[in-house]
This record gives sequence, structure tokens and C-alpha cells, in this order.
Amino acid sequence: MASALPGRDSGRRLRVGLDIGGTKVDAVVLGDDDEIIGRVRRPSAYGDDGVISDVVGSVDQLMREIGRSAADVASVGVGIPGLVDTDNGRVLHAVNLGVESLDLSARTEGALGAPVIVENDVKAATRGAAALSGIAEDGSMAYLNLGTGVAAGIIIGGEIWRGSGGIAGEVGHIAVDPRGRVCGCGQRGCIETFCGGGALARAWARPGEYPVLDILDAADHGDDDALMLRAGLFHGAAAAVRVLVLSADVATVVLGGGLASLGDRLLDGIRAALRADAANSPFLRSLHLDERIELLPTGSPAAALGAALVGAIPRKKENAVHG
Ligand SMILES: [Zn+2]
Repeated sequence: MASALPGRDSGRRLRVGLDIGGTKVDAVVLGDDDEIIGRVRRPSAYGDDGVISDVVGSVDQLMREIGRSAADVASVGVGIPGLVDTDNGRVLHAVNLGVESLDLSARTEGALGAPVIVENDVKAATRGAAALSGIAEDGSMAYLNLGTGVAAGIIIGGEIWRGSGGIAGEVGHIAVDPRGRVCGCGQRGCIETFCGGGALARAWARPGEYPVLDILDAADHGDDDALMLRAGLFHGAAAAVRVLVLSADVATVVLGGGLASLGDRLLDGIRAALRADAANSPFLRSLHLDERIELLPTGSPAAALGAALVGAIPRKKENAVHG
């Protein structure tokens, strides 16, 4: 199907990026200088057909928004949770979206008339975070997503580091406390059990729409449970930062995900934990970990932007066919 698509010199200029999450789709379109010239958000649908209609419908909606047509679209990048076979445009085990196995590229390229590149959502967000943070094109950085779960993406020399099977960056499931709470993965005391929004909400177990915010507020008022959970949150995230720097020597760790909306309360807390954990270690102190972390601005479309940038890179199979 890829060979029937227009070439990259066809005059089509617009690069579209979609971030498909469990509740919403964030879609952006980029102009010539990677600047965002249009953005729409819509609730996400469920199941194979829902995801396909999200992709096609979001592109239509974006084009209406900026007064252009699908014929102007050069590429579409899609960031989506779950395991992604990027070379074949296939999504596997996107449980929150009700997708078990979906050939997303093959089933949307015909309707859109443009190549559709699919990428794991955290890896797409990593590329977007690198662009938003002004990381050099050949630089190294990690993006630590503190959301319902915890995962990171790593860029080395300007490229996403995937490892042998795509597991690189799954720092949420590094166990750091053998006596800790049981994690959804079956281990005990994973980093995610300390600083994942889902695990914190379960451990807090009190009513409220924003449990992590409630934990920080209650900790400020001296609540014992909240003080314990807050310390775990900051030290858990600090452990993830240490793992990323000590294993990949990234220069910067950008923090994003739902918990990033806590802003400086989160950033300052993690910085303090990094300093405290390094107090007795000249080695750790020499790494200046607290100075290497920064926060992605709230509401910035890192994942959609990153998906648009990923979408503009020809997939390996296409290279093999044409080059
Ligand atoms: Zn785990």
C-alpha cells in the first residue's frame, strides 16, 4: 500500500501528529518550520473501528480548522499506548483503547492518502519533549512520564533508543523496595508503586477527583499517610531519574505526564529528594542530578508534536523499497 501513496516531493507539506489516549485525542498540524499551525482535541473512541475513526476524523477536523484539505497532508504520525510495531504500523495490547492487534497504518492510509507512522505514546512524547526543550538534534535526553503509570523514553545522539525489544525506558517496573506495595506487574516495590498516579490513588484510598494533589495538600497539613506517600512519590521519581542518568548518561531528564501539572511542588520535591539521596555520596553529588531535571510546561502537546515529527521520518520498510 505504501507504494501507492504520494511521494515526499509531491507538494504536500503538512505534517500531522496525533496523540491517542484513553480519554482524548490531541492533534496538531505542523508548518514548514515545525511550528504548530493548528490543534484540535476530541474525546477518543474505543475499539479498532473507534481508533481508525479517531485517526481519520482528527485529520479531517484539523484540516477544517486551518482551512486546508487532506490533499495537503504529507504525513501522519500517531502516538498510541501499548506495544507498537513501528515498521509495520501495528498496535498491540492497547488495553485502555480496547485494541488487541490493529494494523493501524494499513487501515488508515487509504482513506487519508498519506503515510501513517505509528509510535508508542511515551516514545512520541519523548521526541516532542526534546523539541520543546530545545535539546540539540544530536543530543541526549530522557523523558520521564509520571502519569497513571510511569515510563520513560530515551534519546541518544538524537535517536530514540529502543533496545533489542522495545523495553528500553520501562523504568516504572524497576523494583526498589522488596517490602513495598505489590505492583500491577506482579513485582513488589516497583518505582511505579511510589510515583505512579494510579498506585498513589489506590494507596491513598480516599474520595476526591485529584488524589495526588490531595496527598500533597494533606501532607502540607501534617497528615501521616500523606506525608509517607509524598515522600515515596518524590523519592520514587528521584530513583527513576537516577536510573536514567546512571544507565544512559542523559544530560537532561524532562518530566511530563499528568503529575507534571503539580508544577513546582513536584519539581522542587524531586529535586530535594535527589539532593537528600546524594547527601552521603560524593559520586552522586558530582552528577548534579537535581540540576538535570526540568518540567514540561502544562498542556504542551509534547506527544502530538512528537508524533508529527516521527511521522515525517520515512519508515524503514519504505527506505528499503525506495532506496
Ligand atoms: Zn511493576
